[in-house]
Amino acid sequence: MEIAVVTGGAGFVGSHLVDRLVAEGWRVWVLDNCSTGSWQNLAHHSSEEVVRLPWDVSEPWPLEQLPSRADVVFHLASPASPVHYRRLAVETLMVNSMGTKHALDASLAWGARFVITSTSEAYGDPQITPQPESYWGHVNPVGPRSCYDESKRFAEALTAEYVRSRKLDARILRLFNCYGPRMQHEDGRVVPNFVWQALHGQPLTIYGDGQQTRSFCYVSDEVEAIWRAAVVDGLAGEVINVGNPEERTIRQFAEAVAAVAGVPLTVEWRPLPPDDPTNRCPDISKARTLLQWEPKVSLTEGLKETFKYFQRDV
Ligand code: UDP
Repeated sequence: MEIAVVTGGAGFVGSHLVDRLVAEGWRVWVLDNCSTGSWQNLAHHSSEEVVRLPWDVSEPWPLEQLPSRADVVFHLASPASPVHYRRLAVETLMVNSMGTKHALDASLAWGARFVITSTSEAYGDPQITPQPESYWGHVNPVGPRSCYDESKRFAEALTAEYVRSRKLDARILRLFNCYGPRMQHEDGRVVPNFVWQALHGQPLTIYGDGQQTRSFCYVSDEVEAIWRAAVVDGLAGEVINVGNPEERTIRQFAEAVAAVAGVPLTVEWRPLPPDDPTNRCPDISKARTLLQWEPKVSLTEGLKETFKYFQRDV
């Protein structure tokens, strides 16, 4: 049986990845301190399928409680919403630096493949669009988002060095905005905010003039790409964008949410947070070629599933 270790496996993307690994017949160990995730996201799995280990992966790993070998280490642990990583700024810097080092060292010791989820934030406020992996980015190293942007960039640099000098078989995925069930409604990101507001008859809070763009990828599409990046051979050292190349302004996104909710769009305009990127759109040519992957779920379909999930809390 294949063995996976997933950091952040109780989180939004992580728990969907764990579902996929279990469905593929893998045995999974999850390390998570649930600073932003929840064991509830894995409640449907038995302890045979998924071993849960409450742990801050920035601290040295409890190797005696982990398997003696693993096939793949998936390193997803990190706050990802701007509200969460501002609140947990130092923790975010630590998990992406020390946490990544511990995950890389464990992978080497186990002879495991290593898959790390980095972020489109590595591009900062990009000056070209769409963004290919070859673009180096435009990042404020000391701004309010730098705890996330720069620590993810450090995590990429460390991973690239383990590939170069220690011959680790590692792959770096830059995830663009992702959404779907198990997002927390209070995490402050635009998808849970708008869906929650639409369900509660509140105006949608658009920050700035709403002309900034994002590209939203449904979580099942994203997990498919992460899975493929783990099982396709010959990808050591590759950096691959994962996201939906359909770019929208936040204003257009608000319209789409209102349409799926079947309510007229009403807006509460709020100031734009500092350093909010003006645009984000992945160039997914590499994912198409290397992973034979592209997103399949339309925004309308994905939003319907997201609404269903949030309706449980209404
Ligand atoms: N945003 C918004 N209203 C909200 C939450 C976010 O207009 O209630 C905007 C935010 O300023 C940004 C975009 O939506 O331009 C995406 O924000 P999110 O926090 O989801 O993620 P980001 O892509 O900035 O990391």
